[in-house]
Amino acid sequence: MNGFVNGGVSFWYAYDGLPAVREPLAGDTTADVVIVGGGYTGLWTAYYLKKADPALRVLVLEQRFCGYGASGRNGGWLYNGIAGRDRYAALHGHDAAVRLQKAMNDTVDEVVRVVEEEGFDADIHQGGVLEVARTPAQLARLKDFHAHELSYGERDRELYGARETAERVRVAGAVGSTWTPHGARVHPVKLVKGLAAAVEALGVGIHESTPVTAILAGRAVTPYGTVRAPYVLRCTEGFTAALKGERRTWLPMNSSMIATEPLSERQWAAVGWEGREALGDMAHAYMYAQRTADGRIALGGRGVPYRFGSRTDHDGRTQRETVAALREILVGFFPALAGVRVAHAWSGVLGVPRDWCATVTLERGSGLGWAGGYVGSGVATANLAGRTLCDLVRLDSGAAGHTGLTRLPWVGHQVRKWEPEPLRWLGVQGMYATYRTADRRETRTHSAGSSRLARIADRVAGRH
Ligand SMILES: Cc1cc2nc3c(=O)[nH]c(=O)nc-3n(C[C@H](O)[C@H](O)[C@H](O)COP(=O)(O)OP(=O)(O)OC[C@H]3O[C@@H](n4cnc5c(N)ncnc54)[C@H](O)[C@@H]3O)c2cc1C
Repeated sequence: MNGFVNGGVSFWYAYDGLPAVREPLAGDTTADVVIVGGGYTGLWTAYYLKKADPALRVLVLEQRFCGYGASGRNGGWLYNGIAGRDRYAALHGHDAAVRLQKAMNDTVDEVVRVVEEEGFDADIHQGGVLEVARTPAQLARLKDFHAHELSYGERDRELYGARETAERVRVAGAVGSTWTPHGARVHPVKLVKGLAAAVEALGVGIHESTPVTAILAGRAVTPYGTVRAPYVLRCTEGFTAALKGERRTWLPMNSSMIATEPLSERQWAAVGWEGREALGDMAHAYMYAQRTADGRIALGGRGVPYRFGSRTDHDGRTQRETVAALREILVGFFPALAGVRVAHAWSGVLGVPRDWCATVTLERGSGLGWAGGYVGSGVATANLAGRTLCDLVRLDSGAAGHTGLTRLPWVGHQVRKWEPEPLRWLGVQGMYATYRTADRRETRTHSAGSSRLARIADRVAGRH
């Protein structure tokens, strides 16, 4: 790969190119379940439905190709975080949230198990997740975060000082870190491609280049025909705002990434990172990174967070300032990489509900279902959502009873919509500008307390 690539959907497509597109829907038809969206959520749902009942007629309708959205663009942190857990604890009690957390811990293993069973390669390395602190305020937050995670039953999480952190990854200025084994690095596109092939092999029909223009009880409408089905499941995450009636449901937030050229052995010796942990930090405008299977660093953070009017992206093209800002984070973390070349930059959209809580729902009566609002933690959560949507469909149709999954506290959660424009745009722009200022202030002052600014931004955004 010569030169710098901007967009092209994502770096993860750089080797094999974008996939050949499957046939679009050929006309009106019927199914038992129709799924809108061929990302992890839609595909996992199809997978578990077919595994549970091979006779079910399941169709997936995808506007471009499977993995076009965040599932083909993410940072490849397959980990146990779920957006909204603390709120679910407040709403349904601590024990219910502990069950949710336990289900998420198990989900990481479930994804690894299925990938092995289906026999495809997704460059999985189960090295856990390491989150580092680089300022006194970040260290205080890290310690609180560590204790908080233990309170949800994570017995195997560890807290490291500066020296132990450096033994794992030599991040400049790192004063401590927290590590959980419940995480793995994956190649996002290998995962979504392998999963789509596995789903197809089970007998699910996948139609690509097939945008759904209306989702109604009992049918999904496309320019090529209408699919009638008792269950219509919306798995469109960051693209949801483009659907009629859903403009203010989940705010499409951008996240951007860069991938470096492959590092030399000398550069890796300076960085360490033998354990290939998913790597993050405790800044308000946090970063996330992985050591890729082909020896690069892929690193992400907030780009231009949100486009006015909930507009989504153009095949991942990323603004020059965002690329420069991410490169600056990379070199700040690893000064030995000051001369390293950025090979690729891209962006994608996440779905953010007004209360920042992921949900999975099947409406009784209408047969309409949906899952998403994962914010930045959807790689594993989409698998839990898929299994749960499967169980909810089987419960509703009388094929099965309640399961442990249908009783988890995120099932059926409702939240109010986002404010109309321009308030929404102003609010999100303001929130991210505030996070950046809070990070700068914490670095400059070496204060151990989290900046009050960040706490205000959290409140304005509805995060607490
Ligand atoms: C840059 C970036 C980095 C991220 N990093 C991580 C990470 O490291 N770890 C983590 O846990 N999470 C991460 N996430 C979030 C994670 O990738 C997502 O939460 C997850 O992939 C969501 O899967 P999904 O199937 O619900 O949505 P998507 O993958 O977005 O899939 C939705 C699909 O629906 C299709 N679609 C939309 N509208 C229609 C329509 N009208 N008709 C037909 N099809 C339609 C889209 O084309 C798309 O393929 C990241 C996200 C981004 C953008």
